[in-house]
This record gives sequence, structure tokens and C-alpha cells, in this order.
Amino acid sequence: MTATVELVLPAGATLAEGPHWDPRAQRLYWVDIPAHRVYVFDPQTGAQQSFDVGQYVGAVVPRATGGLLLAVQHGFAILDPASGHSQPIAEIAAEADEADLRFNDGKCDPAGRFWAGSYSMAGRQRAGSLYCLDADGDVRRAIADVTVSNGLAWSRDHTTMYYIDTPTQAVAAFDYDVATGAIANRRVVISIPAGSGWPDGMTIDAEGMLWVAHWGGSCVTRWDPARGTALETITLPTAHVTSCCFGGPGLDQLYITTARQGLSAAELAAQPTAGSIFRARPGVGGLPADVYAG
Ligand code: CA
Repeated sequence: MTATVELVLPAGATLAEGPHWDPRAQRLYWVDIPAHRVYVFDPQTGAQQSFDVGQYVGAVVPRATGGLLLAVQHGFAILDPASGHSQPIAEIAAEADEADLRFNDGKCDPAGRFWAGSYSMAGRQRAGSLYCLDADGDVRRAIADVTVSNGLAWSRDHTTMYYIDTPTQAVAAFDYDVATGAIANRRVVISIPAGSGWPDGMTIDAEGMLWVAHWGGSCVTRWDPARGTALETITLPTAHVTSCCFGGPGLDQLYITTARQGLSAAELAAQPTAGSIFRARPGVGGLPADVYAG
């Protein structure tokens, strides 16, 4: 089956990222990282709220206690959409000491911890890390020597964590202890073929298959992590596809974010929908995304 994509929001974003569907509010949260903006989009009405958080914002997730948790340049912040006010809650010294580092993709695990990773905007190799923020506010570095921290997902039975460090051109899996957040036994489960772009954001569907956004590859692909095999491709009309998540009333729509960043003037002219939010109906549903327990 080949799903077609629909343009749902011609956002013109520099770097749209981090889509998260809130099933209670029926809203899509997403960020434009270099624009320092968090967006709350209502696809039913087309209305959208926008919040300037005053610094890079790599990811946004709802808090169980209300409001939103953000990965900002060197740590974490909370945002109250009612007032538009954001405030830092944790700065990570190892990140703040290096001005070229910034947080990138982030996501909550099934126990409500928030995982987010960093990278060097100057292109330094293995300068980033993946961190885990517990519900009580404790932060620990879970993985060091990361180059471009990106997609995260957890298996339906909560025993495996999937992770993308983009230049590895692979999806790694770890044994996962949901009670403690401990990870072990890193191995490659999916190798993304050269020439199809770079693996960026990721989500998991109700059948346990992974959906990977391809930066520079104009597509999202579906994979069986148990076999490492590609199952399906959804083609986008623009090259830099950044991430995806399931949403909609039946959680059976795949929302897909894209970017203008990195495209030449000629490429931008040829790809007028770059930086938009797209939607596909892939024929399989997702699960409600986890939220921050703190
Ligand atoms: Ca990304």
C-alpha cells in the first residue's frame, strides 16, 4: 500500500520538528527550533497558537500536571500555554559549557521520563549526549559520544528502546528497564541505505513497526525492527523530512514535519512546501504518546 500525503499546514518553518499529538486536546504540538518557537495546532479548525521561548527549542511534550515541558538549548524549561510564560527548570553544566551544543529531539518513555539529546551546531563529532530527566527533576547522562541525537521510541512491551544518532545511518536498540530507565546491550537493528537520506525523527506504530523520517531523502519509511527490513515508503514533496507522529481522532493519521533549512535558493524554489506539516493515512494506527510525569 502506498499512502499519499496531504499538506495540512503550510508552515514555512525553517526547521519544523518534534511533532507530538495530544489525544485529549486533539492538538498537534511541534517546534521550529531556530525560530525559538513552540506551536499548538488544531487541525479541526486550522487555528494555531505560537509561543516564542527566547532560545532554541528542540522538543515539546505535555506534562501530566498541566502545561508543557521543553528541551531548550542547554537544558529543560516549562511553558504555560495559558500565559505564554516559559521558565527554565534545569540547565546541564556539561552542555552549557560548550556554546555550540544545543538540545535536539526529545520524547517521553512509558514511565513518563523525558529523554532528550544534544549535538554540536559546529559539527563536532561525538560532542553530544542523550539525557534522561526523571519525573522528580533528576537529570542523568544516559549515552555519551553522540554526534546528532535524534529519534527515540519504545517497544509496546516496554523492554526495548530505539534510538537514532543520525550519522550512524542506523536505528540502534537497547534492552530497556522501564522501572529504572536503565539501558543496556546496544546493537544496530535497522541500517538505513546510503542514498536515501539520513535517519532523523522516529515513531512506533500499534504493530511495533518503526517509522523513520529521512532528512535529505524526501520520505518516511516503515521498518520491522525484529528483521531490519523495510516495509513501506511514504514520499514527501520536499527533501528534508524531520520527524513524524501518529495523531487524529483515531490515531491513524501520520503527521510529518519538514524543513527549509539546508536547501539552496534553487531547491527552495522547486520545493515550495518545504517547512510544512503533512499528514498521511498509512493504514496502521499508533498509540497515545507518553507525557512527562513531573
Ligand atoms: Ca531531528
